[in-house]
Amino acid sequence: MLSLFDMDQKALEEHLALVGEKPYRAKQIIAWAYRKFASSWDEMTDLPERLRKHLVETVSVSRLELLRKQEEEGEWAKRFLWGQGGKPLCESVLLAYKYGLTGCVSTQAGCPVGCAFCASAVIGFERDLQKGEIIEQFVGMCRLQKERLGHLVFMGTGEPFMNYDNTMAAMDVLCDPAYYGLSRRKVTVSTVGIPPMMRRYAQDSRGARLALSLHATNNETRDQIIPFNNRYPIEKVVLALREFAASSGQRVTVEYMLLKDFNDSAADAARLSALLGGIDCLVNLIPWNEVPGFKWRSPQPSKVKEFQEVLERNRVKVTVRRRLGANIEAACGQLRRETADRPPK
Ligand code: SF4
Repeated sequence: MLSLFDMDQKALEEHLALVGEKPYRAKQIIAWAYRKFASSWDEMTDLPERLRKHLVETVSVSRLELLRKQEEEGEWAKRFLWGQGGKPLCESVLLAYKYGLTGCVSTQAGCPVGCAFCASAVIGFERDLQKGEIIEQFVGMCRLQKERLGHLVFMGTGEPFMNYDNTMAAMDVLCDPAYYGLSRRKVTVSTVGIPPMMRRYAQDSRGARLALSLHATNNETRDQIIPFNNRYPIEKVVLALREFAASSGQRVTVEYMLLKDFNDSAADAARLSALLGGIDCLVNLIPWNEVPGFKWRSPQPSKVKEFQEVLERNRVKVTVRRRLGANIEAACGQLRRETADRPPK
């Protein structure tokens, strides 16, 4: 069985030609899938019935099953667990910000990086997601929401730069006006910091944005929470970020998780200001939200305020992530981990 979201227009045209259909049918199918969010061939009512019958037998419109959906109480954030054959595969998150809806998608099933505060690390790594599986998470959220999402972030489970080709291919399709037509300026790839891949992305992103999960201000601290730091120490990661910001002319985002009595001191904030000096960046502070099974504690609100003020005094742009989706975002892989213990109904 072929998969619709793994096929481009040319592949669809070739498949349709096998049963004598004209190429324009491929455009009709793409419009149904990417702009009208159809989830079955039956919904594509302007295709002849005999063609729909053929497509039902040969091409799958949907490879991801929705296994669970979780909504953040009192806030507007939704988390979706997708699976195949009833088995959990990956998660996506839908977030409502002032500027519109953002879809956050996973690029890998599980994650090989193993950050010390991440539920995905506990699950372990299964495999890279295919291009179509990444695209379908985003389109699947549009289907469920019954509306278009304006922003895309590759910030779910997995390190996007370790599944680079499929991540970039998914981005290219979603940004192509012939498919979904998302502006590249509204797409962000979030990385834990792999300098050679950040440099490659600088050449390939063509206007898409970059976010770096830094979470520490020296190697001693970062080594304890991000195992990759042994291989790519903080100076090299920040240098690659600096180069990306300079060559792209774009403001980059630096994600910094505040963990109580670990990386939340005023001295950390001063070191962070010095590290990022001269880079056009926005630091996004994420006060850790406690998650069962993890040793980390939430920082005191006064420490968060102090951290923010030190950055501001040093002229570093900073925001503190409001609670929206905090439980969801702080623990990528959490839903999948819970579901591994408790199979979906
Ligand atoms: S935080 Fe991201 S990179 Fe780190 S283990 Fe979790 S999914 Fe992987």
